[in-house]
Amino acid sequence: MTGDLEREDGNGPLWHQIFCEGHPALLKQHRLHRILPSPPRCRLCLVPFAGIGGWVMRRRGKAPSSRNPHFCNACDGFLDSFPGGAEVTMPVLFVDVRQSTDWAAHHAPAEVSARINGFLDHAARAITDQDGFLMAFYGDCIVAVWPPGFCGPQNASKALMAARALRGPIPGGVAAGVAVNHGPVYISTVRAAKGLFRDVSIFGVEVNKTARLAALAAPGQALASATVLVAAGEDADTATPHDLRGLPDPVLARALV
Ligand SMILES: [Zn+2]
Repeated sequence: MTGDLEREDGNGPLWHQIFCEGHPALLKQHRLHRILPSPPRCRLCLVPFAGIGGWVMRRRGKAPSSRNPHFCNACDGFLDSFPGGAEVTMPVLFVDVRQSTDWAAHHAPAEVSARINGFLDHAARAITDQDGFLMAFYGDCIVAVWPPGFCGPQNASKALMAARALRGPIPGGVAAGVAVNHGPVYISTVRAAKGLFRDVSIFGVEVNKTARLAALAAPGQALASATVLVAAGEDADTATPHDLRGLPDPVLARALV
């Protein structure tokens, strides 16, 4: 979904099992790692990198990968050995950070950047608290998905809980436009332009829809598409058509309350 990262194909059945059905070995690691403190964690196996749990696991050889610190060295090696992906129907969430230009005009750039990074940490925590799978940060934007193979059948409800946690005014001149949607997404490994490391990213029209919807949301507002509301068993009758830039058809959505 970014210009310099290319989607990779291959190992479809493996990635389908990981993200759609749940891979027994990975789910076993999730159960074990989830109870160990503290975040940040490897995005794939959830091994903790901080706190006492991080210390214990480092002594067992599980440390952040030097090539991509969002993954542990074992999972980084796994992404490298099994490049590819699968189409998964799941919730997608975008958090589009807006800083108040008025606030930014009266503070030093370092202060503005610290405040935004603080907000990004807060948002990442709200997402991982609801078992969301974080993608890379793209500038001032956070993207996450809820693969059923990670989060179980309640994944749409969990995505809505995360979206609701990110609503509202945040003190200090930073707020976000949030959007959450649900649909088929191609999730795959990507290789950075220089081939130095791999990451995981998402592709497809539902991703673009979510990005556009987040751009449309007012600061402090979270918009949910009718598809995610239906998937979560929530009322979608009051969703109204939203025209999104670059998309031929309007998308039905409503603000979360
Ligand atoms: Zn890992």
